[in-house]
Amino acid sequence: MARYTGSVCKLCRREGEKLYLKGSRCYSEKCSFDRRPYAPGEHGQGRHKVSEYGLQLREKQKVRRIYGLMEKQYRNYFEEAENIPGVTGENFLQLLERRLDNVVYRLGYATSRSEARQFVLHGHIYVNGRRVNIASYQVDVDDVISVKEASKKSKRFKEVLEYNADLAPKEWLSVDMEKAEGKVLALPTREDIDYPVEEHLIVEYYSR
Ligand code: SF4
Repeated sequence: MARYTGSVCKLCRREGEKLYLKGSRCYSEKCSFDRRPYAPGEHGQGRHKVSEYGLQLREKQKVRRIYGLMEKQYRNYFEEAENIPGVTGENFLQLLERRLDNVVYRLGYATSRSEARQFVLHGHIYVNGRRVNIASYQVDVDDVISVKEASKKSKRFKEVLEYNADLAPKEWLSVDMEKAEGKVLALPTREDIDYPVEEHLIVEYYSR
């Protein structure tokens, strides 16, 4: 599976905002964006007039980078969203939020989506009592997402649970951090998307 292997902090600087891709580091003074809040490269600090197309492209890229997807897979989600009744932009965001790696992150079992993806791919995550190692798996209402018994004892997992102990669960999820067991109470709605996004720009980008 193809994936981006470059510097993720550069992605935040490129998008002009913090995308929180590196877990605890993003909240520390080591955050690259806090230290250099301008685009990387020789002309990163120059002023640029951004076209309508540029705005659409940046919004599309920002959300893609937040979920850590490659373009082909990301576009597939958009095409799927177009075929679902309702508002395409909202359908699109819902499909992204329902990914298992995102849900593992939202439940607080990982400090970033990339770490959550690693946990899923390495077989540490169960859905309804069965191991699921597909990061793109779409969770559904009443699904129970838990951590493999043996994995709960690992040093890293204990650290993560401690770090996220006070994390308030999203309204569409419930979680018992002691047991490392979470449940999908409802499908995420537009109001559950907690980062700034103008999804109409993404719809316009792909509708060109
Ligand atoms: Fe972005 Fe986090 Fe890197 Fe800061 S530390 S630039 S928020 S990925």
